[in-house]
Amino acid sequence: MRYGIFSDVHSNLPALEAVIAAFQKEAIDQYICIGDVVGYAANPKECIAKVKELNPILIAGNHDWACVDMIGTRDFNPIAQEAVDWTRLQLSVAEKDFLKSLELLIDDDEFTLVHGTLDNPEDFNYLSDRLDAQVNFELLSGRLCFIGHTHVPGIFIRQDNHVEYIQKYPLQLSSGSKYIVNSGSVGQPRDRNPQASYCIFDSANQTIEIKRVDYDIKEAQRRIVAAGLPIFLSKRLAIGR
Ligand code: ZN
Repeated sequence: MRYGIFSDVHSNLPALEAVIAAFQKEAIDQYICIGDVVGYAANPKECIAKVKELNPILIAGNHDWACVDMIGTRDFNPIAQEAVDWTRLQLSVAEKDFLKSLELLIDDDEFTLVHGTLDNPEDFNYLSDRLDAQVNFELLSGRLCFIGHTHVPGIFIRQDNHVEYIQKYPLQLSSGSKYIVNSGSVGQPRDRNPQASYCIFDSANQTIEIKRVDYDIKEAQRRIVAAGLPIFLSKRLAIGR
């Protein structure tokens, strides 16, 4: 089985289209979306429609839930809050119902899915470093967990109680280790690489790869400005921060 895993689309349609085109060359059997389909950029409705077409396994991100008042925006910075308020006004009842229906955590035979962290997923904390990863490995019943939220792609590996962090792919999984994989962000990368990020898990070969693809950043920026969203949300796309 080849899984196409992606996260943090954040209403960036040009980036999502580029990632879908890249996935189409990868013989994907099943898509997985790790949350935050909406929030920040200018095409929430189109992104929800495109994601639904992929028929993915889906979980909720903090922006998805904030836009439908499942969580408050107290922890959001003012720019993120403004984007949530704008997005809320764009969505139809059906689109809101779709976001409301997303689950916080999925435990499959092969993997666990959560947007932020395994400890209190509803708090949407950040899993950013090896210390955070150590805590989460203790809570991981299986051996493989896919996350998003930080917009920084990378893989934490626990072997013999030692946690390592890698950003080199493809990775060959080994049976004695556990893995927490951040697939990075489709629509707003923050690792100083502005290319859209996506991940492929091949369960037969036991390999994981995180890849990057160019997309029309200028078009995404133009749409953000035209929508009247904060200019910063447009500028950051060019620098991947
Ligand atoms: Zn996000």
